Amino acid sequence: MQNYKPEQAMWEVRREFGEHGGVAPSISRSSTFTVMDPGTMPEIFEGIRGPDKGGCFLYSRHFNPTTDVLARYLYAMEGTEAAVCTASGMAAISCTLLQLCEHGDHIVSSDTIYGGTHALLGELLPRMGITTTFVDPTEPAHFEAAITSNTKVMYTETFGNPTLKVADVAVLAKLAHDRGLMLVVDNTFTPIIITPVVSGADIVVHSLTKFINGAGDLLGGAICASKAFIYELMDLHTGCAMLLGPTMDPRAAFDIIERLPHLAIRMREHGARAMIIASKLLEMGVAVTYPGLSSHPQHDVVNTLINEGYGYGGMLTIDCKTKAKAEELMSVLQNKEQFGLIAVSLGYFDTLMSCSSSSTSSEIPPEDQDEIGLSPGLVRISVGYTGSISARLDQVERAVKEVHLV
Ligand code: PLP
Repeated sequence: MQNYKPEQAMWEVRREFGEHGGVAPSISRSSTFTVMDPGTMPEIFEGIRGPDKGGCFLYSRHFNPTTDVLARYLYAMEGTEAAVCTASGMAAISCTLLQLCEHGDHIVSSDTIYGGTHALLGELLPRMGITTTFVDPTEPAHFEAAITSNTKVMYTETFGNPTLKVADVAVLAKLAHDRGLMLVVDNTFTPIIITPVVSGADIVVHSLTKFINGAGDLLGGAICASKAFIYELMDLHTGCAMLLGPTMDPRAAFDIIERLPHLAIRMREHGARAMIIASKLLEMGVAVTYPGLSSHPQHDVVNTLINEGYGYGGMLTIDCKTKAKAEELMSVLQNKEQFGLIAVSLGYFDTLMSCSSSSTSSEIPPEDQDEIGLSPGLVRISVGYTGSISARLDQVERAVKEVHLV
């Protein structure tokens, strides 16, 4: 286990009081900011005088006081020097990769990633001359074999969406650095639980839409990295986060800031309940995958990556083998048992369920889904924390029996 203390790091961050001493920070909704001394304008544009360099804010697509407060908490959580917030997780991922790569460059990526990221790498970036080789995230040797003289980046998720294959971030980071590459890790499934830079990752990206916000009511993203990389992203001439306009609205930033104080509590509760439900399913003979179970093929690797005291996350899967059986199970769980909701996304306080192959991984061609072990009947479950756990266990047990899963 790692001994990084993300919860502690977040609360050592400078507190931002609101106007009139408000305990909550104010929402700074201005799109543009007044420059008191016109003579400083050129230096502000040059980035010589930014908000953190004794200067002032300029324009909210560049930096905004409220989104900056959120960024401060997030980079403390991830143990990086700086962060920038974006309007969605995909904005964070696409800006990061476009900043790191140019025409002719190559990426080696895990093949077990969110369908949108898979489409970005496999279909959109090739239109800009950036190609990707997809490999099994559990096989560092496959990453190594795929590296070419044009490779710039290695990319993975901590727990791969949706099959929950686990990448050994420490081994991948060493490989990346030995070969002069950057390792980018999507930590959307495991905020607080895993701190990828502690294991050597260079850049951490997040969809804040999921666990970090936790209320299912807005979208957001973040890039946590060195100050140098964040400044590159914000460069007025060549910065993807500046010029592609993926800016987070300060009102969304405020909402997320207000939910960060209970992120660790929520992650512990998601994880505790997922562990109990996964154990029950295993005991019943259901084909369940959960990184906290010793039956998970990378359980030992997981134990080397996680920070102590936050559990193993809120995501588990049940392989129902066929789409029809997956739909039957989800239908009983939602419409008869009120166990959860059939909806894409994850990290909500209620349980969310989806059949990945025909929804959030549908961008991955069927033959590739087969190759990565993504069954057409895989139900991905984001375990919520509403209701009593004993009632939830009864609901799961009844549903599994009703659809004859075992
Ligand atoms: N990363 C992962 C692991 C995801 O599951 C998702 C969305 O489901 C994203 C990134 C994209 O996030 P967003 O929908 O906020 O753009």
